[in-house]
Amino acid sequence: MASRRQIWVKDVPIGGSAPVAVQTMTKTETANLAATMEQIGRVAEAGSDLVRVAVPREADVEALRTIVADSPIPVIADIHFNYTLALKAIDAGAHCIRLNPGNIGGPDKVAQVAERATAAGVPMRIGVNSGSLPKHLHELERSSPVEALVQAAVEFVELMERLEFENFKVSIKSTSVPNTIAANRLLASKIEYPIHLGITEAGTKWSGSLKSAVGLGALLADGVGDTIRISLSTFHAEEEVKVAWEILKALGLRERGPVLIACPTCGRLQFDMDTVVAEIENRLEQYTEPIEVAVLGCAVNGIGEASHADFGITGAKNEGLIFAHGKPLRKVPQAGLVDALFEEIDRSLDRGNVEVDARKAAEGAEWLQRIEDENADQLTPERIAQMEAAAAEDADADITAEPLDQPVRRTSVDEKSSPVSGRRFTRTT
Ligand code: SF4
Repeated sequence: MASRRQIWVKDVPIGGSAPVAVQTMTKTETANLAATMEQIGRVAEAGSDLVRVAVPREADVEALRTIVADSPIPVIADIHFNYTLALKAIDAGAHCIRLNPGNIGGPDKVAQVAERATAAGVPMRIGVNSGSLPKHLHELERSSPVEALVQAAVEFVELMERLEFENFKVSIKSTSVPNTIAANRLLASKIEYPIHLGITEAGTKWSGSLKSAVGLGALLADGVGDTIRISLSTFHAEEEVKVAWEILKALGLRERGPVLIACPTCGRLQFDMDTVVAEIENRLEQYTEPIEVAVLGCAVNGIGEASHADFGITGAKNEGLIFAHGKPLRKVPQAGLVDALFEEIDRSLDRGNVEVDARKAAEGAEWLQRIEDENADQLTPERIAQMEAAAAEDADADITAEPLDQPVRRTSVDEKSSPVSGRRFTRTT
């Protein structure tokens, strides 16, 4: 059900067979050039394909000229109520105009914007939000908000087609996750234009990310949606970009940088895995390669469900094992696990493949087998899943490694965020 049509926002394709584009919106006063450009730089670095800026005043249009010229990514001008600002934004070089045809002053004004956009080759995003539907749909909205949203969007699409303007994408947004899902599914069945997805006023970083992941994830998994924006109540727009990427990566729709997998821990855990995971997550931010790294809190399950990971560690009380692609590489004292993991990652990225020391691999496999044997009677969730899959790895390689002298601990987690009390390990600072 992906959109059949494709538009281009400068050099970024939206729709058709294009990858789902990530976008966000600056939180700064657009006319504050220094602050706006700094934020655009940060969101571009975080992986935003597009950025939208609010243009509510003449001063913002003036700033837009410079922003468009200097921005490393295409810039969308966000216009409400004032069609002359839309015309001026096009003249200022905006790569796309976002407007709501319902609040811009009537079809004549929309026509003027469409005419100017056509002349400049600039696409538009036309959008409707719950709460700002045309009056004639208010009754329908009360009985069926989803149908009302879709009806509004379809009417705007028809208006643009009557104006012979087809270079646009469409958004319908609601604060309700179920309504967003239902409305976009219905819209995708009715139009062939690219669809912009978002949950309006999703909330804080925590709740908004979850709501967005549920709503947008359901749609993207169905093939609905061509560009996404996560709306979070934070000044740091790059956080929205990071969440968008995590959603796309989780669905396997796009790749960007590493993926970290970590077990949830349980009463079998005997080392400070929270700190280890935080350290690994921090260090992985320096990598752009789409490697998958797994962290298992104990070796009771063997490598198990993490066997697909490019690299991983599985820990125990005093030592742990580095593994790659389901095979042991070497056993390492617990304090040096993270450093050893990154040594292996760096070496393999340099070489283009994983280097296996047969002796160390054999020692590691032996260690792993011993722990598995000692705990053979324990039915962990992972082991049950592994048994059900009936595809256990045949760990015929094995390993060991030289202990690292000094552990490096650059990431600290505290008792409040990660309690040690009541668990089977102590934390060194
Ligand atoms: S049994 Fe599973 S969840 Fe518990 S510590 Fe081991 S790997 Fe983690």
